[in-house]
Amino acid sequence: MAKVGKIVILGRPNVGKSTLFNRLCKQRRALVSREPGMTRDRLYGVVEWRGKHYKIIDTGGMMPGEKDLIASEIYRHAQMAIKEASHLLYVIDGQQDLMPVDEELVSLLRQTGKPISIAVNKVDLPQHLSRTTPFYQLGIENLFGISAEHGLGLDELLDHFAEVIPEAVEESSGNITQVAIIGRPNVGKSTLLNRLVKEERSIVSALPGTTRDAIDAEFHLEKDTFRLIDTAGIRRKTKTKALAEKLSVIVAQKHLKASDIALFLLDASERISALDARIGGYAHESGRSVILVVNKWDTVKKDPNATVEYVKYLRGRLKYLDYAPVIFLSALTGRHVVKLGPLMAEVARERLLRVGIEKLEKFVEEVDWDRVSTPKKSKGQVHRITQADVTPPTFFLHTGGGAKLHFSFERFVKNRLREHFRFLGAPIIVRAKRGR
Ligand code: GDP
Ligand code: GDP
Repeated sequence: MAKVGKIVILGRPNVGKSTLFNRLCKQRRALVSREPGMTRDRLYGVVEWRGKHYKIIDTGGMMPGEKDLIASEIYRHAQMAIKEASHLLYVIDGQQDLMPVDEELVSLLRQTGKPISIAVNKVDLPQHLSRTTPFYQLGIENLFGISAEHGLGLDELLDHFAEVIPEAVEESSGNITQVAIIGRPNVGKSTLLNRLVKEERSIVSALPGTTRDAIDAEFHLEKDTFRLIDTAGIRRKTKTKALAEKLSVIVAQKHLKASDIALFLLDASERISALDARIGGYAHESGRSVILVVNKWDTVKKDPNATVEYVKYLRGRLKYLDYAPVIFLSALTGRHVVKLGPLMAEVARERLLRVGIEKLEKFVEEVDWDRVSTPKKSKGQVHRITQADVTPPTFFLHTGGGAKLHFSFERFVKNRLREHFRFLGAPIIVRAKRGR
């Protein structure tokens, strides 16, 4: 994910949030996930202003209907977006009076500690600018009279963003990688988290979420920024074993959703259990990149073959995660924890790898397609391969055969792609396309 300032547009229904969003956006896309209670997909857009880019999120469709216009409800609906925001833009209808719900909402927003600006919309004529005056009562200094519909006052608003949003940098410089720490209870997730936060002296901040129990922590490693997702969720403990196990699965699923890469912890002092396999299964299905972290390595007798033997055992148990690199460490003693950062950086990089057309042409020429051990009919003639997507890397195989790939053929293609381009830690997706 690129490091750009994120502006979230909030406000009561019908104040003109969508109109403003449309006016400001150069490009937009709908987020795929649908949060419960949302009336439509959440919209993400990109605003470009004087060479800088900002992400903008329209919460218009996330708001409850007119009849339940309660500040806390509006806030709750927009909570996910607020959490992501680097700046909150509160929109008000300048043709209406200041309402108690606006005051309540602004006060809730203020509690997030995030910078807030107010756009008093529907100020359609310059001579109506005095209509903004009553809204200064909200106590927000940065207040702008605008008309989203007629495009008035927007330059001042955008100049303000350019001034106050610090992360507004070019889209290409530096990535934030969201990292999930997952695993069953007692594998050492909290211990590792504490260790990482301590080890990395460069840790900058604990980013406060909207609720006390969602706190992300960021650390930098050379050019890369890693964000450990929901550190409170990692630390959360439950009294009963059954409940703790259940929770570990739910939290893993939730954290996987929000992450780019997952540190999947295993306990070297115990056998790999059905619960481990279950969490590993979710990690695989999520399409995230995975690093297998064998923790508590300090408890294992030092034998020259110990790591090799363990990898064999682990690969047998978690067959589907064959692309995930394995690291042995001790979160408790700190041994080898320093190796984790560079490995994460590498996995994060490979996840974003895009293979050029020429390289893929050469790849098709070089592979010995006759080695595929699959029924002749389904093999077909491989014309070319294209990379359709990154994160996870997705390839289209253009063949003379059917549109469905035989699984052994699919595995063959994946293995060859890995030999050539690696994609360390990332699942590779291969789909067949009939014809050239
Ligand atoms: P949202 O629910 O906050 O997303 O509001 P919309 O963007 O859907 O706008 C609600 C209504 O206000 C629509 O009828 C818009 O045409 C109108 N509207 C939006 N911006 C302006 C404006 O600058 N001036 C005037 N007069 N009307 C506006
Ligand atoms: P979580 O439930 O996954 O967050 O696990 P914790 O971090 O709370 O660790 C559970 C227990 O394992 C604690 O008693 C830790 O001290 C211990 N532990 C964690 N990491 C290691 C390690 O690397 N070696 C050893 N020997 N114990 C560890």
